[in-house]
Amino acid sequence: MEAVLSIGSNMADRQALLDGVIEHFAEAEQLRAASRTYATPPWGVTDQEDFLNATLLVEVPDEPLELLRRCQALENAAHRVRERRWGPRTLDVDIIQIRRDGHELLSEDPTLTLPHPWAHARAFVLIPWAEIEPEAQLRGQPIAELIAALPDDDVQAVTPP
Ligand code: ATP
Ligand code: CA
Ligand code: CA
Repeated sequence: MEAVLSIGSNMADRQALLDGVIEHFAEAEQLRAASRTYATPPWGVTDQEDFLNATLLVEVPDEPLELLRRCQALENAAHRVRERRWGPRTLDVDIIQIRRDGHELLSEDPTLTLPHPWAHARAFVLIPWAEIEPEAQLRGQPIAELIAALPDDDVQAVTPP
């Protein structure tokens, strides 16, 4: 199955944390595409690092819940680093979409909701995704259309390197 993953970090070595996720899938020969890293300014509390976000396309033999466990193991590994040095969350690995034979899986299960319930509204998910899969659709809607419907400020806040 194919999965679209959104990865994010706002820790000091946040690029290294994102690279660790990319390397995990690359070493397993399951990485199909990785976007560049985009910076998104934090909302609300502004005296912290920008978030770095990227979107990955992976091809995995796993069941969906097995992929979720892998994503959580990657988060946990990063959290151990965080607990030594920083308070805030260091790494977030969200499953945005899973496809089998080109068909999008739908799930209302709170443990793994598919597609990710907020993906359609998040510029920091959709913009990197459009870089690697410009023709992708979410619930049958082209992601380019979803991006066009976002507030301009949200789109402009997601800056390429
Ligand atoms: P958000 O989901 O709004 O991005 P978050 O990433 O901060 O928030 P977490 O604390 O990382 O939320 O995850 C909470 C729970 O969400 C996890 O325990 C996981 O089981 C569940 N979850 C449901 N659907 C998904 C999904 N598509 N990808 C990742 N986790 C999911
Ligand atoms: Ca998230
Ligand atoms: Ca998450």
